[in-house]
Amino acid sequence: MHHPKIAVVEGDGIGKEVIPAALQVLDALSLDVEKVPVEIGYGRWERTGRAITEEDFDIFRSCDCIFFGAITTPPDPEYRSVLIQIRRGFDLYANIRPIKDVTNGSNIDFTIVRENTEGMYSGIEHVFPDAVYSTRVITRRGCERIAAYACSLAHKKRLTIVHKANILKSCWLFRDVCIDIADQNGIQWEDMLVDAAAHRLVLDPERFEVIVTTNLFGDILSDMSAALIGGLGVCASANIGTDYALFEPVHGSAPDIASRGLANPIAAIMSLAMMLRWYGAIREADAVEAAVSEVVSRGITTPDIGGRCSTTEVADAIVRVVEENLAT
Ligand code: ATP
Repeated sequence: MHHPKIAVVEGDGIGKEVIPAALQVLDALSLDVEKVPVEIGYGRWERTGRAITEEDFDIFRSCDCIFFGAITTPPDPEYRSVLIQIRRGFDLYANIRPIKDVTNGSNIDFTIVRENTEGMYSGIEHVFPDAVYSTRVITRRGCERIAAYACSLAHKKRLTIVHKANILKSCWLFRDVCIDIADQNGIQWEDMLVDAAAHRLVLDPERFEVIVTTNLFGDILSDMSAALIGGLGVCASANIGTDYALFEPVHGSAPDIASRGLANPIAAIMSLAMMLRWYGAIREADAVEAAVSEVVSRGITTPDIGGRCSTTEVADAIVRVVEENLAT
C-alpha cells in the first residue's frame, strides 16, 4: 500500500502509554505513513457524554486502517461499545490472534481465526420476564469468508476447524462450509469439538497451527490461549474486513496499572507488526518481531513477564534493535 493513512486511537488508561511506545517503533522504520490522531473514549465521554461521534467515523473512513489502544467502559447503561460499533461499521469479520511465545519458553506458535460478526454475538436477543433467548446466527456467507481467510493463513499448515456440531445444527453448517473451503484450497484440515480443543490447547498447545472457529468459542479460546504465552501484555490482535482493518493489543485499559510505567508495550508493538504486514511492509514487520524476541531474550521486560524495566525502557530497547537490524 502506497502512503498508508493510519487513524491512531490511544484511548484510555495504559492505551496512552503502549500506543505512543509502539509509534516510537513505527517512527524508527522511517516509512512513508501518515498518522491521524483520533481522541475517543472515556475521557471524551466524561467531557461530552459521547465516546465516539459520526465525525470520528468520517475520519476513520478517510484512513486505511485503525491502530487502537484501549477504551475504558463508561458507567452508562446506554453506552454502546466503541469497538463493536467500529467492527460493525466496517464489517471487520475476522478477528485474528497470533499466539506465539515471545519469551521463547516453548514452541507455541499458532493463530486463532475467530468469526467476528455473528454467532452468539449476533445481537439478536428476546427478553421475556422469565426467559431470555439469545439467537446464534451462522450464515453460509459468514462461514465462507472466515474459512477463506483462515485458509489464506494456513498455507502449508494444518487448519483445525473448531465447532460443537454434535449438539448445534448451526455448527454443522460452520463445519461443512469450512471443510469445503479448505478442500477447495488444498489445505490440510482436521475438525475438533470445542471442549476437546480447549483440553488439547492446555495439554499440547504446540501441536496447533491455525484454528478457525465461531465468535463465542473463539473469544473464550483466545483469552485462554493468551495465558499460555505470558498473558495479556504480549498478545496482539487484528480485526480484518474486506478492505479495512483495526489492530489492537488484546488487553484493555488496565486502570489498576495506568500511568506507572508498568504496562508491557509488547502487545501493542506486535499489533503494529501485524498492521505493517497487512499493508505490505513485510521486511519491517519481520524486523519488529525479531527485535521484540531479541529484547525479551536479553531480559529487558516489564514486571508482568518477569522483568524490572518500564514501558519506555522496553520500547527504547526495541527501537534500538530495530534501527541496528535495518541498518545492516
Ligand atoms: P478494561 O475495563 O479496559 O478491559 P481491565 O483492567 O478490566 O480493563 P485489562 O486491561 O484487559 O482489563 O487487564 C486485566 C489485567 O491484566 C490488568 O488489570 C493488568 O493488571 C493486567 N494487564 C493488562 N494489560 C497489561 C499490560 N500491557 N502490561 C501489564 N499488565 C497488563
